[in-house]
Amino acid sequence: AHLDRIAEIDDQLGAFLHISGAEALVAAKAADDAIAAGEAPSPLAGVPIALKDVFTTVDAPTTCGSKILEGWVPPYDAAVTERLRAAGIPILGKTNMDEFAMGSSTENSAYQVTRNPWNTDKIPGGSGGGSAAALASYQAPLAIGTDTGGSIRQPAAVTATVGVKPTYGTVSRYGLVACASSLDQGGPCGRTVLDTALLHAVIAGHDKRDSTSIDAPVPDVVAAAEFGAQQDLSGVRIGVVTELQGEGYQAGVLDSFRAALQVLTDRGAEVVEVSCPHFTYALGAYYLILPSEVSSNLARFDAMRYGLRVGDDGTHSAEEVMALTRDQGFGPEVKRRIMIGTYALSSGYYDAYYGQAQKVRTLIARDFADAFEKVDVLVSPTTPTTAFDLGEKVDDPLAMYLFDLCTLPVNLAGIGAMSVPSGLSADDGMPVGLQIMAPALADDRLYRVGAAYE
Ligand code: GLN
Repeated sequence: AHLDRIAEIDDQLGAFLHISGAEALVAAKAADDAIAAGEAPSPLAGVPIALKDVFTTVDAPTTCGSKILEGWVPPYDAAVTERLRAAGIPILGKTNMDEFAMGSSTENSAYQVTRNPWNTDKIPGGSGGGSAAALASYQAPLAIGTDTGGSIRQPAAVTATVGVKPTYGTVSRYGLVACASSLDQGGPCGRTVLDTALLHAVIAGHDKRDSTSIDAPVPDVVAAAEFGAQQDLSGVRIGVVTELQGEGYQAGVLDSFRAALQVLTDRGAEVVEVSCPHFTYALGAYYLILPSEVSSNLARFDAMRYGLRVGDDGTHSAEEVMALTRDQGFGPEVKRRIMIGTYALSSGYYDAYYGQAQKVRTLIARDFADAFEKVDVLVSPTTPTTAFDLGEKVDDPLAMYLFDLCTLPVNLAGIGAMSVPSGLSADDGMPVGLQIMAPALADDRLYRVGAAYE
C-alpha cells in the first residue's frame, strides 16, 4: 500500500531519491512469515520505513543529496540500517536531503526539490525534508532522519509530524556519512509520539564501531510514551526558555506556543520561565564549529575513493582531478562551508574563531545544566516561523541559517529534544511545532511530555 501511495503521489512531492520496491516487498514477506511463526523480531516487524539518504545501504545508492556520490552503492550497511533490517522493518527507499545535510529547506539537494505536503509551494524543512514529506503525505508511516542543528526537528515542525533528536552518542553514527561529527545524531520520525518511541527503541543502543557511542542503557521511551498518553503531567516542572521567543517570531507561532503552555499547565505541569543567556550566541558558535568539522570530514571526497571523478583523461595531475571533481561534485552551500571551516581552522585564526566557538559551546551546555537544576524539561517553539516559500531564502544563507535558531543549542550541548505538532498557525494555516528538550540520557522525558501534549 505504501509503495502504491509513493507511485501515486511522489511525482508531485519529490520525497524519495530512490525507491527500493522489490527489496521492501521481500523484507515485508519475511516479516509476515516471522510473525505467522510467532517469531516477530520486533513490535515494528513489517512496518515500512523511509530512510534519509545519508545512511549507507548495501542494496541502494547512498548519495547524501550530492553529485559527488552519484550512483555510489556502499559496501556496508550503517548501524541504523542493520538495526532496521534486524527488526524486520522493510526499507521503502532513500529520502531527499540537503547536500551532506547542510541546509534548512532541502533546496540544497543536487537532485530535486521536495515540496511540503501541506502546501506544495512551501519548503518541507531541511535537511531531512524528504523524510518529513514522506511521513506527512502517508508515503511511509515511519522515517529516519539526522539532526546536526535541527534537521529532524525542524522538518517535523513544518510538516506536523514528530521528530526526535536523541542524546548524542545513543544512536550509532557508524555508516552515517558525516557532516559535523560532534553534532550529528540519527533519530526517529513518525506521525505519533508512540510510533516514534517504538522506532527510537529499535535504533538506539551502544555500538563499539562508533567511538562516541555511549555504553549506557537506553531509557524506556515506549513506556514513557504510553504513560504520557494518560495526559497526567502533575509533578512535572517545565521551563520556558526566555531567549527562544519574542522578537523575530511569527505571531501565529507565538500564539500556538502560548496555547501549548496552557495545555501543559491544564495537564498538571508547573510551567516557569527560565533564562539561558548564552543561547543568543548559539548561531555564531554553530556556524564556526560545523564548517570546521565539515572542512575536515569532506576532505575524504578526493575523487579517488568514491563516486565522481572528473578530468581523469591522462592530461591532468591527481591534484587537478581532485579540484575539478570537487568543483563539479559539490554544490555552493557545501563549498561555502568548506571554505569558512578551512579559514576558521587555519593557524593564526584558530584561537580567534574555532577556539572561541568551543568556549561558547561550553557556556551553552552550562546554561542547560543550570536550567535542568530547576526544571525537568525545557520548551520553546521548534522554529521561529512556519514553512516559508520555496525559493524565498535560497540566495540569502544567513536568513536560511536563522530558521534553525531554536534547535541549534541542543546539538551544541549534546542533549535530546523532540518536536511535536502544535496545531496550525492562524497566519497561514501551516503547521507549528513545539520543541521539548531534556537532559542528556533522559530522552524518556521527551516522550512522556510529548505524548501528554499531543
Ligand atoms: N540547517 C542546519 C544546517 O544547515 C542544520 C542541518 C542539520 O541538522 N543537518 O547546518
